[in-house]
Parts: sequence; structure tokens; C-alpha cells
Amino acid sequence: MTILVTNDDGIYAPGLMALYQELRLLGEVAVVAPESEQSAVGHAISLITPLRVKKVALAGGVKGYAVSGTPADCVKIALAELLPEPPTLVVSGINLGPNVGINVLYSGTVSAATEATILGVKAMAVSLNTYKEADFATAACLTRELVVQLRNWTGWSRGICLNVNLPALPKEQIKGVKVTRQDTGPLVEHFECRVDPREHVYYWLAEINERRDPEPDTDYGVLNAGYISVTPIHYDLTDYPSLKDLKDRIGR
Ligand code: MN
Repeated sequence: MTILVTNDDGIYAPGLMALYQELRLLGEVAVVAPESEQSAVGHAISLITPLRVKKVALAGGVKGYAVSGTPADCVKIALAELLPEPPTLVVSGINLGPNVGINVLYSGTVSAATEATILGVKAMAVSLNTYKEADFATAACLTRELVVQLRNWTGWSRGICLNVNLPALPKEQIKGVKVTRQDTGPLVEHFECRVDPREHVYYWLAEINERRDPEPDTDYGVLNAGYISVTPIHYDLTDYPSLKDLKDRIGR
């Protein structure tokens, strides 16, 4: 199989290299990723500025393409221009920090996978539930095992991409895999108000991953309970139950 790896933490992020090292056991792996960190850019694409693509040498002589754009840009340009043919699978990550609940909407990691799905390629986003001392080797090994289990899954063809979140625990302490729905509760967030050296006030969003009392069957709840969470997500944002109701009210 041929695999494209990308991320939103930037091409030099250790999570991407760990992913490369494990997935190359399954086949040929291409690396196309943002040249700098693009966390929380969501599904943004570059229209005002051009995309510059640089061939770069990563650790261990691994070659990759660094793109001056967003994660979604990386997937688009990889499929349209850089790869000789579409890959069997796109894996985005491994992100430093979880992508569960409402954060899925802000996530560049998830958007890269979604973009691949829109373009007709199987895709998976992978995130690790920690912001420090991340053991990406274990997370990458678990990711490879999931890829092997799911490579022949037929559900991919329904326009689904998989949002995978891994606990930051030693392998033997992880309780298993649970298939989940996305948590939709609001995040606990606040702006830190600071003062710059010229005495102008500025604001900085803090604690964007906090969530009080996530429901137990959701991505958030399951991850916090020590399971790997796998959520099938779709880029069709239509609310189907509202279709008939609204048609009746304001016309077809
Ligand atoms: Mn990130």
C-alpha cells in the first residue's frame, strides 16, 4: 500500500516522524506537511497567497515536501501535483494534543484527513492525549495496528474519515478501542488579558481543551477513561431531520 502522511504541527514535528517510521512497515510512505505549525487552522486553504513547496531532508535521511500552507493545502497539492498517483491511505498526525469534541471543528489534523476523504482517498486523523513528554513511538505502533485492522473496511467509501484519539498511557495500561460519537458540549475557555511593553492590552485564548463532564460514550469521555477513541466523521454538515420541517415551512 502507499500512504501519505501529513499533520498540522509542521513537517519537523516528532509525531509525524514516528508515524512515518511505523507506517513504512506497511508500504511506501510519502511526507507532505506544512513548513510551520498550523494547529487550529481548521479546514482553511490558501487563496490569497501562493503555495511554495520545498523538498526537505528529515531525520534519518527521510525526504519530504514542506508546504507554505495549511494541512488541507498539503493534501490538495500532494494529490494534484506531488504524488505520481493517489495513495491508498492518508494519515494525519500524530497530533500533540487530543482532537475530541468541539475541537474537531478547529483541528488542522482532522481537516487534512477530511480533505483527503473529500478527494476520494481513505483517511484517518490521529491525535495523542498529551501536550508534554509524548511517547509518539507507542502511539504510532498502535496507529499501525489500527490501519492493518481497518485497511479493508468498506465504510470508507461512504465519505467517512476516522478521527482517532490515543490515550497517553503505556500500551499495557490502555483499556482497548471504543467506537464513539463526537462530544458536542461547550469547552471551558477564557481569554488571558495581558499588557504589551508599550502598554497596549492584548488577549490570548487559554485552556481550549477543557470540557466539564463529557458524556461517557463520546470521544471525550472514552479517551479520558483510558480507551482509544475511533469516531467516524462526515464532511456533509446537513442536518437531515430538519430538511422536511424547513421545506414545509419555507418552501422546497
Ligand atoms: Mn496540532
